[in-house]
Amino acid sequence: MLGIYGGTFNPIHYGHLRAAIEVSEVFALDELRLVPCSQPAHRNKPEVSASMRVQMLQLAIQAVPQLQIDTRELERAGPSYMVDTLASIRAEIKSDRPLFLFMGTDAFNGLSSWHRWQALFDYAHIVVITRPAFKPKSLVKFYADRLVNDKHSLKSCASGKIYFQQVTQLEISATFIRQTFAMHRNPSFLLPEAVIEYIQAKQLYKA
Ligand code: ATP
Repeated sequence: MLGIYGGTFNPIHYGHLRAAIEVSEVFALDELRLVPCSQPAHRNKPEVSASMRVQMLQLAIQAVPQLQIDTRELERAGPSYMVDTLASIRAEIKSDRPLFLFMGTDAFNGLSSWHRWQALFDYAHIVVITRPAFKPKSLVKFYADRLVNDKHSLKSCASGKIYFQQVTQLEISATFIRQTFAMHRNPSFLLPEAVIEYIQAKQLYKA
């Protein structure tokens, strides 16, 4: 089974990494790909280039064999729509191979504003990475009809379901990390040291 975890990763941090490792193990994935976006559809283009964000991803996962990086969104012009990414991945794998799209609760709550969001379910299951205290809002019918409570049932079809998976939640955000660098505070233990060194060497996230 193949998993996709998309994001701006500006920069990658331990919140992303811990969640990625846990879902990779819980779902016994063959592969979990981090998919950095080039031009986010819902926010301004990050000041840090996509290639620098990829270099930080590479530094972060160099000792984590469960995780890979998929840079296909960097090779497409225009906004990075996840539906296009899933369609292109689906075209490369067997039609009956389960494909999982992982996202945090914040991303899921905004899902219905994503480009062609209903078509996401034609290509993948959506697994929402939740915190222990998370209580899902009452789901609209479109979602409720897709919700499953047994993760094993996700393996019996290739796409189309929603599942909520708790992980050890680390309350870390890239926004807070950028602010930490801008204020010349110590970012240790929020993200890998190799990424911190890269940010410092390239003088990123200056105020
Ligand atoms: P920003 O603060 O710039 O909005 P971010 O830290 O939320 O960034 P993104 O790259 O936007 O990071 O997020 C990519 C994906 O990772 C999203 O699905 C998001 O919900 C999820 N995510 C972000 N932070 C965490 C975290 N601490 N734990 C688990 N998932 C997270």
